[in-house]
Amino acid sequence: MSRTPRALAAVVLGAAAGLMVSAAAPAGADAVRFTPGAPGAGDPYFPDMGNGGFDVSHYDIALRYDPKTKAIQAVTTVTARATQDLSRFDLDFQGPLKISSLTVDGHKAAYTRSGAQELVITPRKGLREHRRFQVRAVYSGVPQTINDPALGVSGWIPTADGGIMLNQPIGAATVYPVNDHPTDKATYSFTLTAPQDLTTLANGDLTDKRTKAGLTTTRWEMRSPMASELAMVAFGRYDVVTGRTKGGVPNLTATDRAMAISAADAKKFNQQTAEVVDFESGLYGRWPYSSTGGVTVKAGVGYALETQGRPVYDLGRHPGAIPSGDLLAHELGHQWFGDSVSPERWADIWLNEGFATYSEWLYGAAHGGKTVQQAFDDDYATPASDDLWKGKVADPGRDHIFDGLVYDRGAMAIHVLRQTIGDKAFFKLLKAWPARYRYGNASTKDFVAFAQQIGHKDVSDWAAKWLYSEGKPAL
Ligand SMILES: [Zn+2]
Repeated sequence: MSRTPRALAAVVLGAAAGLMVSAAAPAGADAVRFTPGAPGAGDPYFPDMGNGGFDVSHYDIALRYDPKTKAIQAVTTVTARATQDLSRFDLDFQGPLKISSLTVDGHKAAYTRSGAQELVITPRKGLREHRRFQVRAVYSGVPQTINDPALGVSGWIPTADGGIMLNQPIGAATVYPVNDHPTDKATYSFTLTAPQDLTTLANGDLTDKRTKAGLTTTRWEMRSPMASELAMVAFGRYDVVTGRTKGGVPNLTATDRAMAISAADAKKFNQQTAEVVDFESGLYGRWPYSSTGGVTVKAGVGYALETQGRPVYDLGRHPGAIPSGDLLAHELGHQWFGDSVSPERWADIWLNEGFATYSEWLYGAAHGGKTVQQAFDDDYATPASDDLWKGKVADPGRDHIFDGLVYDRGAMAIHVLRQTIGDKAFFKLLKAWPARYRYGNASTKDFVAFAQQIGHKDVSDWAAKWLYSEGKPAL
């Protein structure tokens, strides 16, 4: 039977957290039980990250940066669909940014901020399951920088002449209200405004640029689903080079002027990015996005990050330097492994880093470096007593998701899998895996099952030794 409007109107939301009171429904009518969405996505490493009860389809993020105050003025609109009858729900939002207005479908909504990162939103009326809704938040301030002892610097990172947003794993919520877990991917639009002497950059395609009253606004579209940890915006003084790869992918690279990179090297960075994109497309299948590129920045974070479509490389300790071929191969390899196919849980991050490291090996071997077997042998020669062999590759622990076991043992595991199933099946897998889970999520269990299916070989012993056990496996 269908619910009558009268029965719906009879539902009264409880004001207290989690409480729902429904008035006596007419005989034969169903009462709708509106309940709060979960405050986390259920990831054991980051219990507060992400939320339950809805699924985001699009973020529209408008940021205006003021170099004098270092503050942003922002309007973010989150388009989502309820996956349960929602009385209230959380977004992740952290730090000192001050909200001046928050609406759900145009109506003022009540909200509280609790714990480190929960923005708890109670809409005027409950949201029925499957219903599409929009949250619009207007806010401003100087965003927080996260400096986690184990995970490093992320979130909003000030630079000499602006700032950059680098989110992995938990930084996104410092800049915009977000369902901050890789399992809730969405498309993105960015509208970035700054004084006209600054360059603004983001993921995706540059679709508009206009200057008015001394301010330049650019608009960027990331049309493929993206995990929040891979979203990127940058404000600052950059030199931009545009082109296309031989395979036809539009390619926009930018070099931070604070890095003092020569015009010739800025061009080389663009060309090498194009070459690696084409090389890896040959191995992993078509480039997953409508454009590519890269950004070099002096941000003091000491890492490069596979921000979707357009990675960021902080080479601040090496003035004048552009990324090496190996580094490009790593971050661009991630675009298939980690970005297009994202981990189901952060424990699965070896699926990102193992394949990105293996991408370095494959690229190096094809470009005059050591063979893949030599790269494996060099790592495998690490003594069994070394810390590298501590912990489990497929469950490294929250504080070890960026450790050597994930990268080097991950790549070694992939090489042993290749030997187990043979080159023919392995190179088929390199294309088939990113195709099978394109723009989605996959777990270690999914991967082991997929490898077994494609290799027609029992890989359970391989998985037990290389992924699920501590210690140095015998060959
Ligand atoms: Zn990586």
